[in-house]
Amino acid sequence: MNQEYEMVIGLEVHCELKTQSKIFCACPTSFGAQPNTHCCPVCLGMPGALPSLNREAVRLAARAGIALNCEIHTHSQMDRKNYFYPDMPKAYQITQFTYPLCTCGWLEIEGEDGKKRIGITRIHIEEDAGKMIHTPHGSLIDYNRCGVPLIEIVSEPDLRSAQEAKAYVQKLRSILTAAGVSDCKMQEGSLRVDVNLSVRKKGDLSLGVRTEMKNLNSVQFMGKAIEFEAQRQVGVLESGAAVFQETRRYNEETGRTEIMRRKEEAEDYRYFPDPDLQVVYLSREEIEQIAGEMPQLPDERLCYYQEKYGLPAQDAGLLSQNLSVSRCFEQAACHSKYPKIAANILIANWLPFFDFSGEEEFPQLWEQLSSLADLFGDARLNSGTVKNLAVRIWKTGEDPKTIAQRENLWQIQDEAALLPIIQNVLAECPRAVQDYHCGRQQALGPLMGQVIRRTSGRADPQIVRRLLIEILARNGEKENLGG
Ligand code: ADP
Ligand code: MG
Ligand code: ZN
Repeated sequence: MNQEYEMVIGLEVHCELKTQSKIFCACPTSFGAQPNTHCCPVCLGMPGALPSLNREAVRLAARAGIALNCEIHTHSQMDRKNYFYPDMPKAYQITQFTYPLCTCGWLEIEGEDGKKRIGITRIHIEEDAGKMIHTPHGSLIDYNRCGVPLIEIVSEPDLRSAQEAKAYVQKLRSILTAAGVSDCKMQEGSLRVDVNLSVRKKGDLSLGVRTEMKNLNSVQFMGKAIEFEAQRQVGVLESGAAVFQETRRYNEETGRTEIMRRKEEAEDYRYFPDPDLQVVYLSREEIEQIAGEMPQLPDERLCYYQEKYGLPAQDAGLLSQNLSVSRCFEQAACHSKYPKIAANILIANWLPFFDFSGEEEFPQLWEQLSSLADLFGDARLNSGTVKNLAVRIWKTGEDPKTIAQRENLWQIQDEAALLPIIQNVLAECPRAVQDYHCGRQQALGPLMGQVIRRTSGRADPQIVRRLLIEILARNGEKENLGG
C-alpha cells in the first residue's frame, strides 16, 4: 500500500452462544439438521407467539464480557431492529441497542511492534437470522438458525493492518472457545466477521470514511479482503474522488470487493425497546458467580506453563492459544517424567503441521508424546530418532516403543561397541582429522555424522562426540611425540 497512508480497522464479530436451546424458545440449536426442522411458532414469528429469554444465553454473554475485560451491566435491554428481509420472519430482529450487556473491554494481541491492546466498545446479545440459499431456480430459506443466541462483539477502530485484524480474530476465538462461550467455527458460521475499514494519511487524527465488508468466512479471506479494500480506497482518494460509506461483499473468486448497498443508518431500523421482554437483570452476585466459574483462559495458561514447566514465553504462547493443543500438551506433560521435552517435541515436530486458523482439532496423541519424551529423557532414543519417530507418529498414531522395538532403534551408548566404529571412521577420513588438528573444530561434525550413520542413526551423539575428542587428542599427542 502507498506508504503515505495507513489503514484503520474496526471489527464486528458475531458469535453463536453454546446453549442447548434457542434464545426465545425451546427449539434446539444443533448444526446440520434437515432444513426447517428446528422451528416453532416463536422462532417463526407467528402472530401472538411470545418470546421468553433463555437465561443461559445471558450468562454466557456475561462470561464472554468478563473474559474480555468488560464492564458487565446489571440492567440491559432488548430492542427491536426493524427490517424486511425473508431471513427474519418477524420482520424485526431482537437485539440490544441502547443498553448493551457489556461495554468498555479489551484484549491483547501480538501487534507489529509488540503487545497491543485492542479496545472492545460493546458486547450485546441478539438472535440469529435464518440462512438464505440462493439457487438458479430461486432462493431457499432455512429457519433452523433463526433465534439461535448470538453475541456481537464490536471493537474500537484500533487495528492498523490485515495482520493485526487476523491476530485479533484468532485471539478472540482462542479466548471464547476456552471460556466455553462458543465453538467459534467460521466454516459453520458460528463465528462471522464484518470488517469496517477506512484509510487516512499517516499523522491525520480524524478518521476517513469507512466501508463495511461482509461475507468473510475464513481468516485468510478476511486478510485478503482487507488488503484489497485498503488499496482500492487509497486509489479512489489519490484519484481525487471520495470513498462512499457503503456495505461491500468480498468475492473469493475475483479477490475483489463489490458494492452490495449504500450503508443504512440507525434511524432506518427504527429501534425501540421490545415490549414483549422485560429489562434483562443480572445481580452483582450472579456476575461474581459467573466470574468465579470462568475456566482457565489462554493467557493465564501461558503464565502457568512458564511457571510450572519452566517453558520460555514463546513456547508457552504456542502451546496455550488453542484448546486442543493445550489439552494434548497438558496430558502428555502430566504423564511424562520430562514435560519440557514433551513440549519441545510437540512444538518442533507437530505444530508446523497444524493450522491454527483452521477448525480441526489437534490430534490427541498425548500417550505417544509422553512416551517419546520419556524414551528421549532416559537416553533410550537419540534426538535424530526422536525426530523421525515424531513425524511418523503424527501420520500413523503408532506407539513409539513398539516401533523402536520392532525396528531396533534403541540408542547405542556402549563405548566398547562405539570405539571400533570410531577408529574406522578416523582411519578413513584423514582430511577431516588433519583439519581438526589444525584447529578447525567444525571438522568434528562430519566425523560424528559418519559414526552415527554407521550405526543406522542409533549412536548417542554426546558419547560419540566425547570419544572422538578424547581419541583425537591422544592421537595428536602421539604425533607430537613422534615428530
Ligand atoms: P454500525 O456499523 O452499526 O454503524 P458503529 O458505527 O458503531 O456501528 O461501528 C461499527 C464498527 O466500525 C466498529 O468496530 C468501529 O470501530 C468501526 N468504525 C467506525 N468508524 C470507523 C472508521 N472511520 N474507520 C474504520 N472503522 C470504523
Ligand atoms: Mg455495522
Ligand atoms: Zn422455536
